[in-house]
Amino acid sequence: MLDDLLNDWLAHFHPEFQGIRVIGDRWSANSHRIKDFLARNQIPYRWLDIERDADAQKLLTYAEAQAPCLPMVLFADGEAQPNPDNLQIAEKIGLQTQAANPFYDLVIVGGGPGGLAAAVYGASEGLRTVMIEREAPGGQAGTSSRIENYLGFPVGLSGSDLARRAVTQAKRFGVEILTPQEATGIRLKDDYRVVTLADGSELASHAVILAMGVSWRRLNVPGTERLTGAGVYYGAAQTEAIACQGEEVFVVGGANSAGQAAMYFSRFASKVVMLVRGESLTKSMSQYLIDQIDATDNIEVWTHSSVIEAKGDNNLEALTIQNSQTGESQTLPAKSLFIFIGARPYTDWLGHDIARDERGFILTGPDQAFSGQTIEPWRLERDPYLLETTVPGVFAVGDVRHGSVKRVASGVGEGSICVQFVHQYLSNL
Ligand SMILES: Cc1cc2nc3c(=O)[nH]c(=O)nc-3n(C[C@H](O)[C@H](O)[C@H](O)COP(=O)(O)OP(=O)(O)OC[C@H]3O[C@@H](n4cnc5c(N)ncnc54)[C@H](O)[C@@H]3O)c2cc1C
Repeated sequence: MLDDLLNDWLAHFHPEFQGIRVIGDRWSANSHRIKDFLARNQIPYRWLDIERDADAQKLLTYAEAQAPCLPMVLFADGEAQPNPDNLQIAEKIGLQTQAANPFYDLVIVGGGPGGLAAAVYGASEGLRTVMIEREAPGGQAGTSSRIENYLGFPVGLSGSDLARRAVTQAKRFGVEILTPQEATGIRLKDDYRVVTLADGSELASHAVILAMGVSWRRLNVPGTERLTGAGVYYGAAQTEAIACQGEEVFVVGGANSAGQAAMYFSRFASKVVMLVRGESLTKSMSQYLIDQIDATDNIEVWTHSSVIEAKGDNNLEALTIQNSQTGESQTLPAKSLFIFIGARPYTDWLGHDIARDERGFILTGPDQAFSGQTIEPWRLERDPYLLETTVPGVFAVGDVRHGSVKRVASGVGEGSICVQFVHQYLSNL
């Protein structure tokens, strides 16, 4: 109880800053990457914009930095690293990136709500559990500014609070959380499932739970690819909101994630323009969010509107927006575009044994019988368990699963009950 209270207090207490400083240019994609990585892993840092902050240049001189060195990360012990990658930062700040053991009862791939719930239940029920997360625990939910429909939190809670609590809980039960670390392959060796990691190392286990969720779909119009991280962002509302203070912000998308982001930006931006392809928000967004948006003076919803081009040399400077009803397009000055246009699973790395539907979502349990695909026949006498994939002992939960509900609570529910099927699987080995 005391730990819980102290953790809550620590998450909101802001003493005089003595930790990590990130010095950079607001429009650099690497500055954005580093800030996003630190923020999503709940590592406090101070951002110093080289163009706006007088201390930035002084600190660079003090660190004896040679140009070009930006973005520069200054750690609390005085070490300065120019443009470090996420793994270097993780190692420096003491995140666990390598597994302590070569073998586990349960390997979980993905640290969103589904993976975290599976980790808590697995470890609390005595399974030696390791969870691999390529960005930061919390997954998509960790990027949400306010989750209002999660049971037991009547005034909502932020995704980062949920992630922080879940990570504390998982670690208390002894889960090893490897981050940032990415699973790149999975193979069978006798009764073992072997997961390959991006650095070439391998983890063997009896059972694997796949909880990779989904990632933002890219907006494929001229300019967006080149300007990603330099004014064009996917998700990332929490990391960039403060930098948009007093500016006009454009949000693409008409679902709940876009609505939540618009509400969050409305606290910082002078105006938020939501660009929605359809005729209204009602088909795609929860009513409570539509009501909040209606009641917020500085949010405008432009229906029938799509971005057809992003312009700018080094950073976003203008957007061309087309109205599908009138066919007219207009080019407006813009510094920030946040894109929330649905998502897709990244499951190509799984190989052919683990069957997916045509969009890449993993088939589990009874789905397999109805998939209509020519998949490797199930060779066991028993039927697959409810959340089991076409490979015995490999399970899938949450958004990555074919037919999933795509909510925090359902990911948590599936992650939790999946551990029961893991136990059943292990008892028959
Ligand atoms: C902005 C936003 C707001 C939302 N708001 C709500 C809300 O208010 N209420 C609600 O119920 N739902 C909400 N959702 C939906 C909800 O967050 C998702 O349904 C939920 O997070 C799904 O959980 P998951 O564990 O299945 O996957 P995810 O949350 O997607 O997590 C998957 C994790 O796996 C990791 N990963 C992927 N591939 C690999 C790999 N190869 N190796 C290692 N790690 C990997 C990813 O980095 C990610 O962290 C929101 C989503 C977004 C984006």
